[in-house]
Amino acid sequence: MPDEIQVGDVVQMRKTHACGADRWRVYRVGADMGARCLGCGRRIMLPRRKFERAVKRIVRDAND
Ligand SMILES: [Zn+2]
Repeated sequence: MPDEIQVGDVVQMRKTHACGADRWRVYRVGADMGARCLGCGRRIMLPRRKFERAVKRIVRDAND
């Protein structure tokens, strides 16, 4: 897992979502992590460890 994930970060997931997008915007961090799919707008909540394992990388404005 790369860096600390913060609210507002866009993360790229290892798996593509059902809608075809693989990027999510984080809207909540803590014991549970919340993110909204940039493709279809669906929101998910996952326990932090599970979420961090699912993340491939954090997409920062500087790189993208
Ligand atoms: Zn989606």
